[in-house]
Amino acid sequence: GPAPESTDEAIQFLESHKRKFKLFINGAWVAPSSKEYFDSINPSNKEKLAKISEANETDVNKAVAAAKKALPEWVKIGSHQRARYLYALARQIQKHSRLFAVLESMDNGKPIRETRDIDIPIVARHFYHHAGWAQLKDSELSDYKELGVIGQIIPWNFPLMMLAWKIAPAIAMGNTVVLKPAESTSLTALLFAEICEQIGLPNGVVNIITGHGKTGADIVNHKDVNKIAFTGSTEVGKLIRRATAGTGKKLSLELGGKSPFIVFDDADLDSVVEGIVDAIWFNQGQVCCAGSRLLVQESVAEKLYKKIRARMETLRIGNPLDKSIDIGAIVDKAQLNTITKMVKLGIDEGNTLNQPSWSCPKEGYYFPPTMFTDVSPSATIAQEEIFGPVLVAMTFRSHKEAVKLANNTRYGLACSIWTENINLALDIAPQIKAGVAWINCTNVFDAAAGFGGYRESGFGREGGKEGLMEYLKPKIEESFSDQPIS
Ligand code: NAD
Repeated sequence: GPAPESTDEAIQFLESHKRKFKLFINGAWVAPSSKEYFDSINPSNKEKLAKISEANETDVNKAVAAAKKALPEWVKIGSHQRARYLYALARQIQKHSRLFAVLESMDNGKPIRETRDIDIPIVARHFYHHAGWAQLKDSELSDYKELGVIGQIIPWNFPLMMLAWKIAPAIAMGNTVVLKPAESTSLTALLFAEICEQIGLPNGVVNIITGHGKTGADIVNHKDVNKIAFTGSTEVGKLIRRATAGTGKKLSLELGGKSPFIVFDDADLDSVVEGIVDAIWFNQGQVCCAGSRLLVQESVAEKLYKKIRARMETLRIGNPLDKSIDIGAIVDKAQLNTITKMVKLGIDEGNTLNQPSWSCPKEGYYFPPTMFTDVSPSATIAQEEIFGPVLVAMTFRSHKEAVKLANNTRYGLACSIWTENINLALDIAPQIKAGVAWINCTNVFDAAAGFGGYRESGFGREGGKEGLMEYLKPKIEESFSDQPIS
C-alpha cells in the first residue's frame, strides 16, 4: 500500500517545544507553578510524544485573570475586528491542516483518513462559520451581549474538533476563554495556541491550560468564570452541575449516549451496512453520538447480521498514519481496559459475540470491531455506554416497539433511522428522545446545525444559532445577572 503519512513536521513541532509543553496564558508560554509534567503517549505504539504541564490552582487563577483583563478590549474592538481574527484562525488551520491531522492521529490513535478528511476540515469550517457570525453579531444580535470569561473543558475523542466547537462561538460572541483539553490528547490544543500567537490574537482572549480532572475542577470553581461549557462523561457532568448550582454561572453539558440505529424492513441493507461502519466503527466507536444500539426489524435481522459480519471481515486495522486504515488505536490503556471489561460482561450475560477472524496488531492499544446479537434490552451492554467499537443488536416487530426500545435508556443524544419510506421516517423521528435525528445517514455534523442532548446526555447546543445563544445574554440582564446568589 501507500507509504504512511510523514511525521516530520509533527516531530519538528514537538522538538520546537523540546517535547516539554508549558501553559499558554496571556499570549505567552508559562511553566506550571507545580513544576509537574505528565506524558502524552501515542496509543498505536506506546511511544512517549511529549511532557505536558499539570496546571494547579495558581495557574488557573493566572489564566482566568488574563481572560478577565482581555475582555473589555475584546468587546470594544467590535464585530468586524473579531471576525478578522476568526477568519485568520480558520485560514491558518487550513494552511496547517496536514500537520494538525498527523499530530491528532499520533496523539489520539484515530486513522489519518478521519483526521485529514473529517476532523480538521470540520474544525476549519467551524471557524469560518463563526467568523461570519462574529461579523454579524453587532447588527443581527444587537440586543445581546457576551457572558464574559468562559471555562471550557473537553474530552479526548475529537480533541481539536471539540476545541473548535467551544472556542469559535465563544470568542465570536465577544467572550474570552480558558480551555482545558483532555489529559491524554493535549497536543493539537497546544498547536492551536501557537496558531493564536501566529495570527496575533490579543493576549488573554484564548488561554490553554493542561492538566487532569483537578485542573478542570479549579476552572469550574473559579469565581470569575461566568460560564462553564463541558463535554465529557455523564459522571463528571453531574459533578460540575452540582459544583455550579447556585453560583449564577451558566452551564452547558454535552455528555454520554447510547444512541439507537433503527433499521426498518424496507431499508436498503447495503447502505445500512456502510451506515453501521460509520456509526460504530468510525473513531473506534469513541463517539458520544455513536449508533451503538442496532434495532432491526425482525424479518430482516438475520440477513443484515450476515452482511455486517462480512463487512467486519474486510475492515483494516493498524497504524493510524497508514492512509488505507479504517480502524486505528483506542485512545489509551484505561479505555481499552474499560472496553475489554464491558465485552467480557456481554459474553457473561449470555449475548452472542461476533468478531472478525483476523487479529489486532500486538504493540499498541487495539480492539477489533465487535457486534453482540440476541441482546436483551435490559442487558448491561444494552444500557451502559461502552465508548468503543462495540455494536449491540436487538430486534423489534412493530413500529411502536421500535420507538419504545429506542427510548429505553437514560440517554438521549442522537438517533439514526433507516427506511425507504420517508413518511415513516418523519413519523418516527419526533417520537424519539434525542437531540439529533439522522435519516438514512449518521454522524453528520455541520457548524450551522445545533448539536446536543436530552436527559442524561446533557443540555445546551453547539453549532447553529442555538449554539451562539449559549454564549450570550440579553443586554437587559446586564445589571443583575453577574451577581452571585447569596
Ligand atoms: P471525562 O468526563 O472523564 O473527561 C472529560 C474532561 O473533563 C477531561 O478534560 C477531564 O480532565 C475533565 N475532568 C475530569 N474530572 C473533572 C472534574 N471533576 N471537574 C472538571 N473537569 C474534570 O470524559 P472522557 O473519558 O475524557 O470522555 C469520554 C466521555 O465523554 C464519554 O462518556 C462520552 O460520551 C463523552 N462525550 C460526549 C460528547 C458530547 O458531545 N455529548 C462528546 C464527546 C465525548
